[in-house]
Amino acid sequence: MSRRDELAAGLAAVRARVEQACAASGRRPDELELIAVTKFFPASDADLLAELGVRHIGENRHQEAAEKVAALRHRDQLTVHFIGQLQTNKAAAVAMYADVVQSVDRLRLVDALQRGAHRAGRRLGVLVQVSLDEADHEGRAGAAPEEVPLLADAVAQAPDLELLGVMAVAPLGADPAPAFARLREVARGIQEDHPDATWVSAGMSADLEAAIAHGATHLRVGSAILGSRPSLR
Ligand SMILES: *Cc1c(COP(=O)(O)O)cnc(C)c1O
Repeated sequence: MSRRDELAAGLAAVRARVEQACAASGRRPDELELIAVTKFFPASDADLLAELGVRHIGENRHQEAAEKVAALRHRDQLTVHFIGQLQTNKAAAVAMYADVVQSVDRLRLVDALQRGAHRAGRRLGVLVQVSLDEADHEGRAGAAPEEVPLLADAVAQAPDLELLGVMAVAPLGADPAPAFARLREVARGIQEDHPDATWVSAGMSADLEAAIAHGATHLRVGSAILGSRPSLR
């Protein structure tokens, strides 16, 4: 099978799962945006996916993302989402090529992205990443739910950032459904002050059905489309 056929098959399988999950929860597939997470895979895969109709890709490491996006310059309809933990000193560089940064979990990062976006003359979409771990949030990606309103306000006030909504990863080894239900509550809380912040980015290869059942608007799917990643880390 050619790589193109493999990717087409992966995409078709994921789209079928999305349709089934939508049917089960009374939603329409066109309420959901699929982000293909291309991390660890070559730009040629992202290129084939774009050819197959994918409009959003997700990357989680700055260096790799920057090189890939440069190789994909001809795909100007592709929206690039940065979904990984982001060091403050890399924020300005990411603001040069990302369209949306989904992993904003602290005020210093809001400031750094605003400065980077301003310098680049770009407007950046931002999601506040929420930690859904019940226990302590120390050292984990994502802001504690009670910190999210403050971060959302800071993003909304930054002139070159646009607050789009929230993002989360389900906690490891726990039922994702209650976690995604909590995320929806956090999203609703933000929407009281920021009605346009409608994005709920939740759901990956293993748990996209639970995310759809609990109101996700954006799915970040890697391995179910592209195959298993080489285990470099
Ligand atoms: C890698 C990654 C994904 C995709 O994971 P899969 O299990 O391969 O679908 C989604 N979100 C984030 C934040 C990731 O780092």
